[in-house]
Amino acid sequence: MALPLSSILAPNETEFSGDFTTETIMPLINRALPLARTLNPQLPRVVVGRGSSGRTFLGVNVDLRGLPLHYSIHAEQFLVVNLALHNERKLNCLAISAGGTFFYAPCGHCCHFLQEIRDASNTQILITDPLFRQNSMPLSTFLPQKFFSVYNEVPEYFARLLDHNRRNGLTLIDPNPIREICVNSDSCTHLKCRALNAANRSYAPYSNCSSGVALMDHQGKVYSGWYMESVAYNPIQAALVDFVTNGGGHEFDKIVQAVLVEKRVAKFSQVARARNIIKKIAHDSCVFKVLHFQEPVKSSE
Ligand SMILES: [Zn+2]
Ligand SMILES: [Zn+2]
Repeated sequence: MALPLSSILAPNETEFSGDFTTETIMPLINRALPLARTLNPQLPRVVVGRGSSGRTFLGVNVDLRGLPLHYSIHAEQFLVVNLALHNERKLNCLAISAGGTFFYAPCGHCCHFLQEIRDASNTQILITDPLFRQNSMPLSTFLPQKFFSVYNEVPEYFARLLDHNRRNGLTLIDPNPIREICVNSDSCTHLKCRALNAANRSYAPYSNCSSGVALMDHQGKVYSGWYMESVAYNPIQAALVDFVTNGGGHEFDKIVQAVLVEKRVAKFSQVARARNIIKKIAHDSCVFKVLHFQEPVKSSE
């Protein structure tokens, strides 16, 4: 069992940690390390990020035993999910390290994910340069030519990954008695409600294939997360981040039920990927269900 640690600092801890400098970040990097679930013998990468609300968040590598490396959740992507789960809108600064001494640039995949956050080009990233000096550099340094390179920053009316007022208007297609969706579907313990609620917050502007996942552990506690993608089509399923963040340090084999909600005919389906993950990491008896949603009817006007 991993250590149960919080991946978000309490407000007084953030205040105590002070400005975002190498001296203040190092203890936070060390604090994040035990949260990591890496199978690689090298030190895991962990990240510390400060959001526009002033809150401080942690992110860690999560490898999934028995699955290819591209199923692993990078620490930066863990942080993005952590921001989303806590309704943080923007990321002001970021530090990526393995031990708190050297600070690294995000990988290409993660640069694209970070770029999906509003005003991300200005996110300051702490870096150790070749002369071992620490500097802050904006994300735009590492991704100077974006896919939408005509924009320095995408217009305000474009949806962005952390827009927390997003509701996709999806409803379940119900062939049988599982009809009712709770009003408090973001906090009830029905997997179908929680997975649908997650799908309604899904960020899939490029594939238009939203989905959501809810997981239940052996004690009946529910975790959920929604599909997010970058313009480079790298996907994250966030429910596992919720489990690592709030699962009290339990291993993934404590997951006993899982529900995925997605479009009935999805061009890019998550079913095979989700089933693979559940089969490899959840309890042997874990029940995996797939439900489908329908999208709101678009007005012709
Ligand atoms: Zn990465
Ligand atoms: Zn419910």
